[in-house]
Amino acid sequence: MAARVLDGKALARSVEEEVRRDVQAFVQKHGISPCLAALLVGDDPVSSLYVRRKAEACGRVGIRSETFRLPREIHEEEILALIADLNRRSDVHGILVQLPLPPHLREEVVTSAILPEKDVDGLHPMNVGYLFLGRPRMVPATPRGILELLRWAGVEVRGKEAVVVGRSPIVGRPTAALLLSQHATVTICHSRTTELSAHTRRAEILVVAAGRPRLIRGEMVKPGAVVIDVGVNRVDGKLVGDVDFAEVVEVASAITPVPGGVGPMTIAMLLRNTLQAALAQLEGNGCTLEP
Ligand code: NAD
Repeated sequence: MAARVLDGKALARSVEEEVRRDVQAFVQKHGISPCLAALLVGDDPVSSLYVRRKAEACGRVGIRSETFRLPREIHEEEILALIADLNRRSDVHGILVQLPLPPHLREEVVTSAILPEKDVDGLHPMNVGYLFLGRPRMVPATPRGILELLRWAGVEVRGKEAVVVGRSPIVGRPTAALLLSQHATVTICHSRTTELSAHTRRAEILVVAAGRPRLIRGEMVKPGAVVIDVGVNRVDGKLVGDVDFAEVVEVASAITPVPGGVGPMTIAMLLRNTLQAALAQLEGNGCTLEP
């Protein structure tokens, strides 16, 4: 029997609706809107599209957004000065820097300059530390969206064998940390892993974030596994994930499609993070997730 296809788009719509209502309540109580500042360096079309989508999503739920379009040649000190200014502004609650940055800018320096309480991408070492201690505060949006999808689909994480393919700071590592804090037994695979399929075949929950089309084939998946495909790749003008959907849908019990799976949840969770940041700043409530 073919797997259940997890409709991230539908879930994202209902999360957005919830955030919209919570934003309304926030505005009534505090007399200001939550506000997200997004920094876009250069004119890469994919990054520009992502930033535009984020701003549009903010608009749908009543979050104010400001986009700073910066020239590709900008000096690191200039970005740091802008971030310092946004850190000081009490009307700006969330700050994100669209990655990747041009090579002359050090991503870890730029993202660490954002105040931890405004760091809606969850990349500041303090937020990373809290997450790995099992006390998540600001958690990157994609991993948060993945866990929300699993919860919504009724997938029990506790005690499960979970395998995460990919160890990036924005997806693989924080996803593994969240699965761990929800009591899964977690394996992280990456580009130097030997015999990837020996690991993936053990997974009851398999999360794939490698950016390699068709990396995961049907025979690499345990029958009945839940498969979350984070990959976004353009192949012959079409968007595809990292999982061979046609093969794996016949083996897994549930699978996310690309597009329409994790992607929409990422945006929805960014909105939730921005509201969370605003609440933390105005009401002093800093915790985003149940431990
Ligand atoms: P990245 O390039 O920073 O990291 C990729 C990871 O995959 C690395 O840790 C690498 O070791 C691992 N990897 C690469 N080839 C591998 C292989 N053959 N076997 C095992 N591991 C391998 O990428 P990222 O930012 O983590 O993104 C991963 C993918 O997810 C990309 O396709 C990206 O576009 C997509 N993405 C989607 C969303 C979304 O919202 N849907 C969000 C972020 C990233």
